[in-house]
Amino acid sequence: VPPSRDRLRIAIQKSGRLAEPARTLLASCGLHWRESRDRLFCYGETLPVDLLLVRDDDIPGLIADGVCDLGVVGRNVLAEQQAAQVADGREPVFREWLPLGFGGCRLALAVPEDWGWQGPAQLSGKRIATSYPSLLARWLADEGVSADVVMLSGSVEIAPRLGQADAICDLVSSGATLAANQLKPVATLCESEAVLAGPVAGFDAVRGELAALLMRRLDGALRIRHSKLLLFQAPRDVLPTLLPLLPDAETPTVMRVDGADDLALQALCHGAVTWQRLEELKRAGAHGLMVLPVEGMLA
Ligand code: ATP
Ligand code: MG
Repeated sequence: VPPSRDRLRIAIQKSGRLAEPARTLLASCGLHWRESRDRLFCYGETLPVDLLLVRDDDIPGLIADGVCDLGVVGRNVLAEQQAAQVADGREPVFREWLPLGFGGCRLALAVPEDWGWQGPAQLSGKRIATSYPSLLARWLADEGVSADVVMLSGSVEIAPRLGQADAICDLVSSGATLAANQLKPVATLCESEAVLAGPVAGFDAVRGELAALLMRRLDGALRIRHSKLLLFQAPRDVLPTLLPLLPDAETPTVMRVDGADDLALQALCHGAVTWQRLEELKRAGAHGLMVLPVEGMLA
């Protein structure tokens, strides 16, 4: 049983691809911290929510041990450690709570460019290098293929050139690293992004309430990331032509303008509000168009 605490502790990557975006996202939820001298711990000053700065691979284990309550980690890392637990016959104790919309990449199987790819059966008896042995083993089993999984903790992409493996299974974002090593992706094992990870079991009352508050704020922060508030006026009779021009908007609020026939509208738009969109609305009869940034949102 994890020790009882009245502060929430979130593990994030200390340095690396997810470190800065994780902190920025949490800061946009109104969290501010005082950093310890060794820069491993950040004490929450605005809310009892602290950060622990660690290696990303350690995050699921810290949640499992109850050292941390939540963590920001790539789905690839979480899924690998879950798959390892399941392969061991254990119940996973952590799970994905919320996708966070950054750190996008995929775990892909890649083979030498000069292979004519015919399908997974071609991997039979081959050596595949990876840092994700459990996800790869599960995929191979699902495909009914038996191959040798070669575990490497880094520099997986050069393994074929070094003669350590015939193919690889590694993270890909642009594909440039694969191409530089004369490899091509042929299958996707996992679509990944940074996620908020937490225990399957949930929390006691105090931390449960803090976690729920954080989830509500994260949800709001993620929803307004690309959102704008659009204000405009229009004659009542053009509304049927105007409204279809707002496809990614929430149902607009419509108000009467005092002493005029026109209506005033406000709509929260979740996609980009381009000049082209504004011009289309104007042509359809809208005027006084204004686009405002959205600072916060609580649904
Ligand atoms: P640590 O020192 O914390 O163990 P790391 O080297 O394991 O760091 P990074 O390379 O910073 O980790 O990657 C962290 C996460 O970023 C990955 O687990 C993955 O979810 C995500 N990511 C996004 N794009 C890529 C990419 N092109 N290559 C690797 N990881 C990526
Ligand atoms: Mg790591």
